[in-house]
Amino acid sequence: GRVSNNFQFIDVGRNDPDKRTLATRKTEYVEIYDPYTKAQVEEQADRCLECGNPYCEWKCPVHNFIPNWLRLVAEGNLFEAAELSHQTNTLPEVCGRVCPQDRLCEGACTLNDGFGAVTIGSSEKYITDTALAMGWRPDLSQVVPTDKRVAIIGAGPAGLGCADVLTRAGVKAVVYDRYPEIGGLLTFGIPEFKLEKQVMMRRREIFEEMGIEFHLNTEVGRDVQIDDLLADYDALFLGMGTYKAMQGGFPGESLPGVYKALSYLIGNVNQNLGFNQPDGEYVNLHGKRVVVLGGGDTAMDCVRTAVRQGAADVTCAYRRDEENMPGSRREVKNARDEGVTFLFNRQPLEIVEYFGEAGGVKLVKTELGEADAGGRRRPQPIPGSEHVLEADAVIIAFGFQPSPADWFPTVGVETNDWQGVVAPEHQAYKFQTTNPRVFAGGDMVRGSDLVVTAIWEGRQAAEGILDYLEV
Ligand code: FAD
Ligand code: SF4
Repeated sequence: GRVSNNFQFIDVGRNDPDKRTLATRKTEYVEIYDPYTKAQVEEQADRCLECGNPYCEWKCPVHNFIPNWLRLVAEGNLFEAAELSHQTNTLPEVCGRVCPQDRLCEGACTLNDGFGAVTIGSSEKYITDTALAMGWRPDLSQVVPTDKRVAIIGAGPAGLGCADVLTRAGVKAVVYDRYPEIGGLLTFGIPEFKLEKQVMMRRREIFEEMGIEFHLNTEVGRDVQIDDLLADYDALFLGMGTYKAMQGGFPGESLPGVYKALSYLIGNVNQNLGFNQPDGEYVNLHGKRVVVLGGGDTAMDCVRTAVRQGAADVTCAYRRDEENMPGSRREVKNARDEGVTFLFNRQPLEIVEYFGEAGGVKLVKTELGEADAGGRRRPQPIPGSEHVLEADAVIIAFGFQPSPADWFPTVGVETNDWQGVVAPEHQAYKFQTTNPRVFAGGDMVRGSDLVVTAIWEGRQAAEGILDYLEV
């Protein structure tokens, strides 16, 4: 056996996995981090102090048993680590890749104070990737089947989290999605340089082996009617996301050469995957001067996609400062390394027309003023600081609002004043909507957020459903 060294963190510093060369990163749609080797992950996982009251677990939205699986992988017990990791997380290898760890688990790590946090995300990714590649599968041998069946609308992280927990409780989960592959925004949103597409394709095989049934290319409300689902299943879960792009509300937004962030990203993913799409959905910004407006994850994915398409130059303009960007710090750094220019404290006033097309963005400088209701300081324009940044293409990445289906009222599913579905966590049956047989979670309930919070809500909603069905 191995002798544990409690002072490992002093001798061994934090080491993130190596990154691909910049030449590769700027041109190819591949993940930019190399996987850890066995020796690397064992050394890094062994840095964990095994704190008695681990803050990382509290800060992790699904409350992973982090020190426990770090110890297992450090000791070489890979399959046990994978099994434990799957008790709290439906998609550990995805969260390991795309969670903003600097704001979550790793931000809360005791060693983050000077020594460098344990590389929790990269270790979580390693455990599941490697175990699955070696043939490990989730252990469902103790599952006792019931006669209950639940329909899940949406194969994003919320829907998948719900399906996972239901399946492990012996309930048949049947998932409907309008897209040709599972994953929701994990597949049709988040680009390959953060999450390669075969990760979700492999997951689909594993979910199918677990007994989850997928009906893809099937839109509820069009290809399948909601009343039929209510008649055929014991309960329903809605995990349909938020898809209405927020507008800037300034002149020039509908000029040719102005693009919506998610459409741009989806067009590029579909092009890479070889899926059929209508003419004009794929936009290639090769050789163009590109300006992206916004400072979240979506904006970062757009700037980095434009780099890979061979844009002449790429600028991100954001109305607050770098400290106040909502996205992951890591991805801002990656974008900067890949050659993106950042303009902070700039608010767009209009998209300037040039011969009938977008020719630039008129920006005004801002300074941060009073805090708003959410506690974030509001950017205030500085009069007289207006200037025009020339551009051939402008991408608007201001986030998303809920997009409630027209059939919600017909089945008694109520929305709140910002159109989110009403399904509180803290009530008799967690995440139940105003129709007792319908549950909901993820972005459509909490507003656009994170993969890991959507997984949590889907899993919690499954518990609400199990309680409701008395399983
Ligand atoms: P979605 O992932 O949106 O899934 C909803 C699914 O429902 C979709 O597949 C949709 O097709 C389906 N659907 C909707 N209506 C119907 C219907 N009527 N019939 C059938 N199917 C339907 N989060 C992170 O944690 N890290 C990141 O790095 C990150 N990057 C992001 C980058 C981008 C570009 C975007 C847009 C988001 C990013 N996010 C990131 C946020 C994260 O992707 C979402 O919070 C998360 O995917 C929400 O999960 P969900 O299951 O609620 O919804
Ligand atoms: Fe950290 Fe996300 Fe993994 Fe939780 S799920 S341990 S927050 S990377």
